[in-house]
Amino acid sequence: MEKDIIEVPYTWEIPFKYTAGEVLTKFFYELKEKRIMGIRCPKCKRVLLPPRGFCEMCFEPLEEWVEVSDEGVIGAFQICCMKFLGAPEPPWASGLIRLDGADTAILHFIGGIDLSDIEKGKEAIKIGTRVKAVWSDAPKGLITDIRYFTPV
Ligand SMILES: [Zn+2]
Repeated sequence: MEKDIIEVPYTWEIPFKYTAGEVLTKFFYELKEKRIMGIRCPKCKRVLLPPRGFCEMCFEPLEEWVEVSDEGVIGAFQICCMKFLGAPEPPWASGLIRLDGADTAILHFIGGIDLSDIEKGKEAIKIGTRVKAVWSDAPKGLITDIRYFTPV
């Protein structure tokens, strides 16, 4: 006998804080000065962004800080048209941004584009589109000090 699956509405609200650790603490302090810092692996020479304490490829501890550009290219993106708890009012876009001087990408918002027509919005951003950080006027040492990346 076939039965409809029951859906149970439920909302989780779980505010929490986590300790950023030494590496991300430095990264966030530098963001407050509007500098984006990666960290270079002594073995494979990749500049990793976001910075981390060790290279996930070589397992080498990382200590060499490298300032990277606040400009780069979109490696992947998505446009969100649905409302999610804790997310901006849709539509909005986010993507993996590989900044000049870094070998890995960070996930961030893509803004400064008209998404009122999603099809036109998709024309404004593509894989390979060059983007630049738009900084907060009052940085606090958070990833949101970069408000979003916008096409240049
Ligand atoms: Zn490495």
